[in-house]
Amino acid sequence: MKIVKTKRFPFGTYTAINIFGILFTKLDKVSDTTLNHEKIHTAQMKELLYLGFYLWYIVEYLLLRVKNSQRKAYEKISFEQEAYKNEKNLEYLKSRNSFAWLNYINKTNKQ
Ligand SMILES: [Zn+2]
Repeated sequence: MKIVKTKRFPFGTYTAINIFGILFTKLDKVSDTTLNHEKIHTAQMKELLYLGFYLWYIVEYLLLRVKNSQRKAYEKISFEQEAYKNEKNLEYLKSRNSFAWLNYINKTNKQ
């Protein structure tokens, strides 16, 4: 995964963002867990031809935001739930089922 170090991007408290499979980060060193998290997002992006991922991400976030705080809405996004649940399993992507994130829609695995 290509990693680009930046000073201020992503904005706010977020430390890394995956844009079309390239990781932009303010961190000096990206942990294996974070890298795995972002690689899971890249797998999701490929399944939705990249643009579909961002579109779905925004729509799901906005729907969740109606009843949740910013942070909670973010954590409940199906893409994030799959990534957070499996980020510590560095072998996850080797056995991951296609479109696995669909299993996390409308679930609250991460509290
Ligand atoms: Zn994420």
